[in-house]
Amino acid sequence: MYIAVDDTDSREGMCTTFLATELIKEFEEYELLDYPRLVRLNPNVPWKTRGNGAVVLKLGKGVNKKNIIGKIEDDIFIYDGESIPNKKIVDILTRSEKVIKNWAELKDDRTDPGLIVSTKKTPKYLYEKTVKDIVTLEEVIDTLESKNIKYTGFGKKRGIIGAAAALAWEPDDHTYELITYREQWKWGTKRNIDKEQVKGLDKSLNSVFDSYDYDEDASVIDPNSPCPVLYGVRGDNPEELKKALEIINIEKPESWITFFTNQGTDEHIQPAEIKDVKPWISVKTQGKVTKEPRTIKGGHVLFDVSDSKGNSITAAAYEPTKSFRDIVNKLIVGDKVLLYGGIRKDPLTLNIEKMKVLHLNEKIVKIGNPVCPKCNTRMSSIGKNAGFRCKKCSTKSSEDDIETENVERELEEKWYETPVSARRHLSKPLKRMLKR
Ligand code: ATP
Repeated sequence: MYIAVDDTDSREGMCTTFLATELIKEFEEYELLDYPRLVRLNPNVPWKTRGNGAVVLKLGKGVNKKNIIGKIEDDIFIYDGESIPNKKIVDILTRSEKVIKNWAELKDDRTDPGLIVSTKKTPKYLYEKTVKDIVTLEEVIDTLESKNIKYTGFGKKRGIIGAAAALAWEPDDHTYELITYREQWKWGTKRNIDKEQVKGLDKSLNSVFDSYDYDEDASVIDPNSPCPVLYGVRGDNPEELKKALEIINIEKPESWITFFTNQGTDEHIQPAEIKDVKPWISVKTQGKVTKEPRTIKGGHVLFDVSDSKGNSITAAAYEPTKSFRDIVNKLIVGDKVLLYGGIRKDPLTLNIEKMKVLHLNEKIVKIGNPVCPKCNTRMSSIGKNAGFRCKKCSTKSSEDDIETENVERELEEKWYETPVSARRHLSKPLKRMLKR
């Protein structure tokens, strides 16, 4: 039996992953038949609270205890086992609704929880579309109705979209996140996380990614919001992640659990030609720089790329991408780049997540006007594109004789990515991408 939930938090508090721990507590007579899933969806949806994530639990009657994946009052294990039969659906739906009513930020009119309880999964295309594009509630409800899948919602019920998409996820790639939670009386107070410990964790655990931002010299595992999360550590090896519980040890979490996630997989990215780019999707596309980088108000760096058919788009390294802007600023007209990023609507702009420099153009700079072969002095310009003349002896020379220098480029033909603090949950870090 699957329980899928989304859209329970607001900027003032809560976190849908915490609600998953409350659901696990509620259904203590059952066991988890898989890791709980934390499924991130289209990072460009304008109405997301923070990270656009939904959760799914698979509950059943467990046999064959496997490994420990968390502690919520008691140790939490995953098991092999049998799913709960269909006849229990209404009971599970009612009890899950009660948990949502207890914990979701229902007083916020932008919190619109959705809940699905089902013995079968939703069709795969729902995930594909929701992680990459915009989906309507009507189309999701049509699909659920046609498959006879039980769902319910609160407020505008928009969370049904995320819940249905998360339940549809069939992983090609996946990672894990161990999330720890604070005692309730501490919610909203400053987290006691020592950044040296986080740096130590990042350096000592091989499979961990996106924990420490060395550019900003800041920990990225502890959120800034007043939510129940103490910290979350991401990586490829769930057993290794458990070591975080010993390494990060100043503020003790009340509970923890490891989620199976699509974070760090680039599943939001679709290949696209520049002409097919549209708002709210995320693409990988390539082209030549046709307008050199320029810094606009707010510290954002923009440049234009065009493909061989003459279609062009403006690409942006926004201010929060900090040092990444220095890299982008070194591009010149004629460089060829492969860009990954989300598409912003007004004005249509590609918000760069990472970039591969495919080809560096030669950077030729003028040193001076041609030198007169007779007088050995620099000639003067006659007029724009009209050539040069020596003031002393009147010898003429053409524009081609201008003295130039081939300047060494400060970029390499390789991958560059935004710093960890500015990275999307779904973005595949180069640490994972270039791993052999
Ligand atoms: P929470 O922790 O509550 O899940 P969040 O930052 O993940 O917070 P939500 O509050 O869930 O964001 O807001 C995202 C909302 O957008 C949800 O209602 C979800 O169902 C909906 N949604 C997600 N992806 C899409 C999409 N591709 N098209 C349309 N709606 C979407």
